[in-house]
Amino acid sequence: MKRAEDLDVAGQTVLVRADLNVPLDGSAITDDGRIRASLPTIRDLVRREAAVIVCAHLGRPKGDDYATRAAGGPSLRPVATRLSELLGQPVTLAADVAGESARIIAETMDDGEVALLENVRFEPAETSKDDAVRGELAERLAALADLYVGDGFGAMHRKHASVYDVPRLLPHAAGQLVLAEVAVLRQLTTSPSRPYVVVLGGAKVSDKLAVIGNLVVGASPHSITPPSASPHPTTPPRADRMLIAGGMAYTFLAAEGHQVGNSLLETEQIPQVGAVLADAAKAGVEVVLPVDHVVADRFSADAKPETVPGPDIPDGKLGLDIGPATRELFARRLADAKTVFWNGPPGVFEFPAFAAGTRALAEAISEVAGLTVVGGGDSAAAVRHLDLPPDAYTHISTGGGASLEYLEGRTLPGLAALEDGS
Ligand code: ADP
Ligand code: MG
Repeated sequence: MKRAEDLDVAGQTVLVRADLNVPLDGSAITDDGRIRASLPTIRDLVRREAAVIVCAHLGRPKGDDYATRAAGGPSLRPVATRLSELLGQPVTLAADVAGESARIIAETMDDGEVALLENVRFEPAETSKDDAVRGELAERLAALADLYVGDGFGAMHRKHASVYDVPRLLPHAAGQLVLAEVAVLRQLTTSPSRPYVVVLGGAKVSDKLAVIGNLVVGASPHSITPPSASPHPTTPPRADRMLIAGGMAYTFLAAEGHQVGNSLLETEQIPQVGAVLADAAKAGVEVVLPVDHVVADRFSADAKPETVPGPDIPDGKLGLDIGPATRELFARRLADAKTVFWNGPPGVFEFPAFAAGTRALAEAISEVAGLTVVGGGDSAAAVRHLDLPPDAYTHISTGGGASLEYLEGRTLPGLAALEDGS
């Protein structure tokens, strides 16, 4: 993969696909980690006198056409403001994605200036399954610039126009964030020091069952394929241990015959979860599930937290966090780890009354002497709010789905497109 730093960019217009998909509370950014992570590449291009046009998505705009989506938002306006503050220079926000406004800005901007296109998902074509539909948007985006830099790691697993199709139309390279993320994930997927412990939480088991399945049946410690030149692992190494918490844990507990009350449950996934548990037992992969819970009678920040001492949750209650015994159990099962990958908070950390499990887990992982990687938008935001020392983890990944698909051994369309032809 060619590096953006090796491109000759002076006097050129560079389209940078970044991941600026930050969590918002209304129009207030609650965690600017993804914007900060995008700065090194943008700064480097500015310093080398390129005109930089940044393209990014935000949230999931709704509606069938551009006008409806643009009217409904979310606009990248607050992101443009924050990006400008962090860069210490103006950032011009285009009024559209690849229309008249973007075209005029691209034509008139000077070297060393930075512009941001509006939310690329205002264009329904961005996420279209139809190659021709995406291709038309890709042509309009490519027409804005001379060169393309892919730096939006969190979107690399998407076959979207701005991620997958534009790099096929312009000379392209990978940005610093993407290269850093891939370097760390490659360590996890080639020769992780053992014990290799994977911690998964978050809301939905259906999002993460594929990666769990692969980490359970993956290559055994003795048959790992040697590191190859390709950044795409084909057989990910097997985990030694998996700690499972968060909303997805209840489907695992239900598969083991426990009562889960009104907790998040994906009934239709129970058979697959049962099969994964059986595979894990066969492969000798230890699966650790919560042994107690913090529950409430409704999903709300002001609901009264109650500790349930066993794995079963009574009728009428829902699990919102792991309990104190689980926090200790998880810390013990992490203490000897040499490699840890963590994705997904173990509780509804957004509600302070149900954030203790996430804090305890974050602290336990920060004490591990070895390679520790935290991945996922919500997980990263959660740990950044805990005021742990800056070197608490080896790496905080900006990608949730992207890092999981990489660990699963899948080819990420955005990475494949950046490799092609360079
Ligand atoms: P990431 O963004 O780090 O990949 P996910 O998006 O998969 O993580 O999951 C994050 C969400 O999971 C959080 O919003 C959190 O509130 C939710 N969650 C965690 N535990 C539970 C639970 N017990 N019940 C419902 N939701 C939960
Ligand atoms: Mg998330």
